[in-house]
Amino acid sequence: CIRDSLDARIWSRTVDRNEDGVATVGGLDVTRLAEEFGTPAYILDEDDFRARCRAWADAFGPGADVFYAGKAFLSRAVVRWLHEEGLNLDVCSGGELLTALDAGMPADRIAFHGNNKSLEEIERAVRAGVGRIVLDSFQEIARVAHVAQGLGVRQRVLIRITVGVEAHTHEFIATAHEDQKFGLPLAGGQAAEGVRRALGLDGLELIGLHSHIGSQIFDTSGFEVAAHRVVGLLQQVRDEHGVELPEIDLGGGLGIAYTPDDDPREPRHIAKALHEIVTRECENAGLRPPRISVEPGRAIVGPTAFTLYEVGTIKPLPGLRTYVSVDGGMSDNIRTALYDAEYSVSLVSRVSDAAPMLSRVVGKHCESGDIVVKDAFLPADLAPGDLLAVPATGAYCRSMASNYNHALRPPVVAVRDGAARVIVRRETEEDLLRLDVG
Ligand SMILES: *Cc1c(COP(=O)(O)O)cnc(C)c1O
Repeated sequence: CIRDSLDARIWSRTVDRNEDGVATVGGLDVTRLAEEFGTPAYILDEDDFRARCRAWADAFGPGADVFYAGKAFLSRAVVRWLHEEGLNLDVCSGGELLTALDAGMPADRIAFHGNNKSLEEIERAVRAGVGRIVLDSFQEIARVAHVAQGLGVRQRVLIRITVGVEAHTHEFIATAHEDQKFGLPLAGGQAAEGVRRALGLDGLELIGLHSHIGSQIFDTSGFEVAAHRVVGLLQQVRDEHGVELPEIDLGGGLGIAYTPDDDPREPRHIAKALHEIVTRECENAGLRPPRISVEPGRAIVGPTAFTLYEVGTIKPLPGLRTYVSVDGGMSDNIRTALYDAEYSVSLVSRVSDAAPMLSRVVGKHCESGDIVVKDAFLPADLAPGDLLAVPATGAYCRSMASNYNHALRPPVVAVRDGAARVIVRRETEEDLLRLDVG
């Protein structure tokens, strides 16, 4: 089976190879996609995206809510897919909110996040009627209450708390230890004080508590500790105010496979574990179990796309490794430089039985840290013009892409059932110059 060469755990589900050894996705050859859309390009498997949405929605069932974290990758096409598949949407800026509303996501299915929302953003969100705003500080509790009252509405809100869990992930993507910018810490009573304030303000309807412990997490134990502590605060709120808050949001952060060594959990395992822990904790506390929501971003969109690159230069360094330069780099995938992220890479325009060669796939930017894949074995007969693909680049690659070195940000091409369409077009030189007003 030729497919073995493209490990099903790290490639989206319609990826295969044809009889000539050319990789295909959604029934289309990558060589044809490269001809038509150029490289580098993000190629997104729409069927896979929709299937993952359904897997999350089905796993959690009608008694819970799944919010896709738009910051992983957001475009108007994505918003429509989410809408059609019955998911809700998290946004964390006015720009993401604009995109969501423009593409027709009903406002009541949108949650608005962030640790420093501007007044304009808060007003836009409240006016639009977003379903929930997640409050991150004492100032924000007062600001949102003030805006809502001025507009004559009661805004549904959650309070984000930090529960002091050490998620086993990179420091910059761990978010529940206390020494960081998000949320009100449980320890020392700030979270309880936030609840006290929110309950006392007319403009706010406090519907629950929110905890997001970090990203690219593989085991559920961190979520279990978080759920335990969140329920502890629910109990404290009940005892102090006589109020049982009806919801808890346990955030996102579920890991995906970037390399064959990664072993992510299925949504149904996560759903089962979270439901069980929340039910058990609530029984012990004598509370009615709250409605649960979760916010997967990476776990939905990450595996659905790969980045297609063309090899430009190949530089063997005897005794070290071979540097393979592609026509993109840290401008389309900053994660390796930023988080030491690990990726895998495959030759996709042909198959080769040449010996494996220890390689590092690097970009074309003026930084030695401009690395796409740190360690990879590529065939020794690799040549300029070959196409490489880096799988699992659907999340936090296009959304974090930059114009460093005045690179043109690549397009996102959605493929489905033998058809391809651009959902985010490639930037042009006119786009670059348009902002430079001299
Ligand atoms: C980033 C973020 C998410 C999504 O994280 P993933 O790792 O992409 O699942 C969910 N909720 C909040 C509050 C976030 O900041």
